[in-house]
Amino acid sequence: MHQVNPNRMFLSSPHMGGAERALVEEVFASNWIAPTGPMVTRFEEDLARLTGTGHVAALSSGTAALHLALRLSDVGPGDEVWGATMTFIGGVAPILYLGAKPVFLDVDPDDFLLDLDLLETQLKTARERGTLPKALITTDIYGHVIDGSRVAALRREYGFVWISDTAEAVGSYRDGQHAGKGADFIILSFNGNKIITTSGGGALASDNAEAIDRARFLSTQARDPAAHYEHTTYGYNYRLSNVCAAIGVGQLQVLVQRVARRRRIHSLYRERLGALPGFGFSGEAPGMQANRWLTTVRIGPQTRGLDSEAIRLALEADNIESRPLWKPMHLQPVFADASYFGGDVAAQAFAEGLCLPSGSSMSDNDVDRVCSIIEALARSR
Ligand SMILES: *Cc1c(COP(=O)(O)O)cnc(C)c1O
Repeated sequence: MHQVNPNRMFLSSPHMGGAERALVEEVFASNWIAPTGPMVTRFEEDLARLTGTGHVAALSSGTAALHLALRLSDVGPGDEVWGATMTFIGGVAPILYLGAKPVFLDVDPDDFLLDLDLLETQLKTARERGTLPKALITTDIYGHVIDGSRVAALRREYGFVWISDTAEAVGSYRDGQHAGKGADFIILSFNGNKIITTSGGGALASDNAEAIDRARFLSTQARDPAAHYEHTTYGYNYRLSNVCAAIGVGQLQVLVQRVARRRRIHSLYRERLGALPGFGFSGEAPGMQANRWLTTVRIGPQTRGLDSEAIRLALEADNIESRPLWKPMHLQPVFADASYFGGDVAAQAFAEGLCLPSGSSMSDNDVDRVCSIIEALARSR
């Protein structure tokens, strides 16, 4: 963990609105300092409204939400779970918790979302071989939103459970619907570096009321109704604290402003750095309204020796944090044995890409500082 340093510019810092502290004080006054309580219920209702989903369970993390989604999908040893190779480990590690078999697919070069043409081709082949996946995880990476109507059509045709990892896309929309809409399960994260935060936390959303009831049961140690503790299965300790939920209720009140600010920061970067030869930014397909959680820039080969690592080091020398894109999962040692379908789109994006500081509390002046350092470096080549 970083030490708190007031002079450091972080990739994505927590950004409180103002109501959070009063809501936390309300929790203290009520003494609901527990992984249950009225703020948890209120947070769940607010999240259901935001995502346009019937039911929500607030949980301790996005990773926990994915674990529960896979368990509720009855994923177990030997089952295949397919997903995009460019993601964060928490968006796939639960596949291993359940002893299932991850299969990774390449992504679209423009927005790093799962390549749906490739997916369709591979599903067709898998059906012929009798090796269709039990579940598919689509990841709304960097706040971009997958084409949900197309995924839903593939689900009808091939019969998998669709889990939308929307951890990075809270406040993102496509065709007027919140990211994840239409999936069997939606995973949300409120980790400290996400667009809004509860310090740590997550949620599982679904239109299936029974599944969310079951998620609540499993997230509280699977206690059967009895005065003593009776267990016919095992669960987890995955509920969100009522204290953290209060922060979440406050954060949701400023989500719209947070998205607007991140989008503004994105366009400032694009205006300045887009003018440099070889610099490119991720696209928004028609109808997509990305939250621009992190602005990613790609530095192509036209830049005469300037690469993303040189830029990262130059920013670091000025106490500014930046980071490579997610390293593709099929290149991670832990997944050395996993199957992979696709080419080198994700690998190439990883080699050329950099996430720039994108926090909503950044000033225009901060963005200017980042751009000036990169421009100076580009000029010196
Ligand atoms: C953050 C994140 C998660 C996990 O969320 P946590 O709350 O940190 O457990 C999962 N998938 C993706 C793509 C993420 O960015």
